[in-house]
Amino acid sequence: MDCVFCEIIKGNIPSTKVYEDEFVTAFNDLNPQMPVHVLIVPKKHIASANDLTEEDAVLVGKVFLAAKAIAEKLGLENGYRIINNCGEDAGQTVKHLHFHMLGGKSMGEKII
Ligand code: AMP
Ligand code: ZN
Repeated sequence: MDCVFCEIIKGNIPSTKVYEDEFVTAFNDLNPQMPVHVLIVPKKHIASANDLTEEDAVLVGKVFLAAKAIAEKLGLENGYRIINNCGEDAGQTVKHLHFHMLGGKSMGEKII
């Protein structure tokens, strides 16, 4: 399997890790769109949000608990935004489920 995030999780591709636990890892995005742009990635290879199954329900909760811990660690006390791109129309480029965590300044524009 040729998956860049699985290789990062295994340590075969370097990354700047900001958080890790049993279920998820989180590292800085290579192409940051905000002062803080972290990718929160489940260690289990799941291609997209649309490939989640009932047995992954707890794992998704772990992602949001990790976000809370990362926010505290990185000083995002004013808030942050979490985005998941799922599939082609959303422009998902890496086919391993991940959540963009953005923060570090006020986000003027909102899509929704
Ligand atoms: P998406 O478009 O939602 O699939 O987001 C994929 C994200 O992964 C993009 O923001 C890329 O900048 C980021 N990315 C791709 N390869 C790496 C890498 N090796 N290390 C860190 N971030 C990466
Ligand atoms: Zn993977």
